[in-house]
Amino acid sequence: MLNVKNLSFSYSKTPILNNLTFQVDQGENLAIIGESGSGKSTLLKVLYGEYDLNFGNIYWKDTEILGPKFNLVIGYDFMKYVAQEFDLMPFISVEENVGKFLSNFFPNEKQKRTKDLLDVVELSDFAKAKVKTLSGGQKQRVALARALAKQPEIILLDEPFSHIDNFKKQSLRRSVFKYLKEKNITCIVATHDKEDVLGFADRMLLLNNQKIEAYDAPEHLYKYPKTPLVASFFGEFNILNDQIIYANQLKVVEQSDLKVTVNRSYFKGNTYLIESHINNKTVFFEHPKKLKKEDIVYLKLVN
Ligand code: ADP
Ligand code: MG
Repeated sequence: MLNVKNLSFSYSKTPILNNLTFQVDQGENLAIIGESGSGKSTLLKVLYGEYDLNFGNIYWKDTEILGPKFNLVIGYDFMKYVAQEFDLMPFISVEENVGKFLSNFFPNEKQKRTKDLLDVVELSDFAKAKVKTLSGGQKQRVALARALAKQPEIILLDEPFSHIDNFKKQSLRRSVFKYLKEKNITCIVATHDKEDVLGFADRMLLLNNQKIEAYDAPEHLYKYPKTPLVASFFGEFNILNDQIIYANQLKVVEQSDLKVTVNRSYFKGNTYLIESHINNKTVFFEHPKKLKKEDIVYLKLVN
């Protein structure tokens, strides 16, 4: 288990992370979320031992993770980290990059392991390609496979699918997170993309103003968003009578107390997001059909 106690960190004078305490179980998938600049990447780097803490401790089981002041070589064998800016060896092939840190004493095993990992990241067809010829998204997948090669106990992933196109993203996410669960590898993913979280994360931790603003299962945070920032992660919402109401919780009915005028409809695939107003207040709701500007409709709260 990863045990983080009262962690505080700053690069210079400005505090970046202030007194964070949380735990991650073996095999758990934890998503670190937050706006750009909230400290997600910094937290992963600190967990990896890349920097010295100002205060607090990090333990993986009985081992304390220490920064460069106390540790000559950054990192530990049981932990792998895939940075937002992945660095690969451009002039050798995909399979050589992945197998780089695997022992040559067992060539058959090495070959099988490399093949399995290329399957996980859906790059088998590119095994012989030189890394420099790959796209950004393909490189990102090589970096993932390489981090998994030595089967770490815990893996830290920084925006792991950010360079991957939408066509591939869904199946790749399923494949990578399924692999991690099967191998019982603890996984901490920093992301601003809710699709990386929903359906995969056991818990999510929201960073804001150097602190943990929310920390719970995604289902729980979705149902009971304590702050507007939590709600905004899941989708468009309104604050009506001091309550957070998601756009999909408002439904058009024949008659109600909430009479709104439509401004615009946004196509969302399986639904339309409708922007409307009542007096001067904007109200978002979802509707199966497009509505016209100036249409007048009545809304009711459903759950
Ligand atoms: P996120 O990953 O959530 O976008 P970061 O962890 O990259 O956020 O950045 C958090 C804050 O730390 C930002 O204000 C950023 O400018 C600052 N920061 C990040 N890296 C460094 C660094 N190497 N030196 C100084 N400040 C940094
Ligand atoms: Mg980042």
